[in-house]
Amino acid sequence: MRLSYDQLDIIKEKMGVDKLWSFSKISTYDQCSWLYKLKYIDKIKSRGDNCYTYFGSLAHELIQDFYEDKIKYEEMISKFEDKVLEWQMLDDPKLKFSTDQERDRYIENLRHYFKNVQTVPHKITNEQAVLAVFEGMEKYVFQGYLDSEYLDDQGNLVILDYKTSTKSGFSGKQLFKKARQLIIYAIGISQHGRMINGEMRQFPLDKIRIRYDMLKYCNVSFMQKNGKIKTTKAERRQWVAHLVNQLRKDFEGVSKDIEKLEKEIAKLQRKMMMKKTTPEEAEGYSVGIGEIEEQIKSLKDDLYDPVQVSEMIEKATLENSLSALPKFIQNKYTVENCYIDVELTDEIVEEAKEEIISLLDDITVKSKEDDKDQAFNRSRIENSESFYCANTCDMKDHCTFYKEYKEHNTMFMVKSDQPSDDELLAMLGLG
Ligand code: SF4
Repeated sequence: MRLSYDQLDIIKEKMGVDKLWSFSKISTYDQCSWLYKLKYIDKIKSRGDNCYTYFGSLAHELIQDFYEDKIKYEEMISKFEDKVLEWQMLDDPKLKFSTDQERDRYIENLRHYFKNVQTVPHKITNEQAVLAVFEGMEKYVFQGYLDSEYLDDQGNLVILDYKTSTKSGFSGKQLFKKARQLIIYAIGISQHGRMINGEMRQFPLDKIRIRYDMLKYCNVSFMQKNGKIKTTKAERRQWVAHLVNQLRKDFEGVSKDIEKLEKEIAKLQRKMMMKKTTPEEAEGYSVGIGEIEEQIKSLKDDLYDPVQVSEMIEKATLENSLSALPKFIQNKYTVENCYIDVELTDEIVEEAKEEIISLLDDITVKSKEDDKDQAFNRSRIENSESFYCANTCDMKDHCTFYKEYKEHNTMFMVKSDQPSDDELLAMLGLG
């Protein structure tokens, strides 16, 4: 439920502040101080959606509509396909992907999600408002909305966030930076409690879990030779291709298992033939051999020649499904949502708090400077940042740094297109 301007004013008054902070404000500043200036100081209107925000909002809406019983499970994929068609018809240059390949991959991943998503088996609430208070140079009050939340079987409040972005950065140390928004919300919940079924309940931080559902990916688990379960993350559109080597090993494993059992039989036969073997022992060995022969017989049903194996794996890869493969292989694999959980230790929460307060203090100091251009100035765009600037930043058309970057690149390209002295002489027939 989105709060109205009047409701937000009531919150400000109650909290004794003249403005509320959103996570997007600090992440904008963290991304690029100039972007912050253009958006929040100069108040330049954004050029609206890009392809990622367009499909991101759509994906959120579909899964949340399912949890709110507005649509059935099977309707998620049909509605998604309708929206893809609608988007194609719009043919809006602002909503285009950087390449056709990127477009196809992105859409195929989401298509797989809406066909196969494993939904949460708990009562989910969506888009509930949350407030969090931080004390720095000033009192900072954050206001935001949780994508989804639910109580798990252990009574933990789980904050679930849907992500349609790539998973890069969602691991190791970087994960905590990515998770700042949810950490802020967790802090907010620990400060103010949560209304559950009409009753206000308190949740200390150790009873709050935060997790991401990375829509473009899935977790594939399979049993290894050593009996241990291995889980790997794969892009949904090609999860079978991601496992081709493992699938080959599964097929090869059958003949290896048969070989091992045959050796076992040979060993038992040798024992049977030994002089010291008593008739009772021979009888036991014979029973053992019979049992192993039975095992070999059933394993032989799963024995395929290399050509068959290659054909089956190729078909499975093309279809991105194991249904073309024998049951013994299908049964080894499970495909689940790609959840990434963030552990909320005191240390992590304290570190996040410090970083958030430091960013907020920085913005506050700079916002009070007379020369805002100087205060929010930044260095020139490096190649490593250019993807964000070119594809995600909605202010690039108003950005002098991006203009300079493009001009510099154009000059560089013109220069590199110039023929060398030798090439020029050759072109003129003087070489
Ligand atoms: S285009 Fe790049 S440098 Fe310019 S405002 Fe956007 S993020 Fe900042």
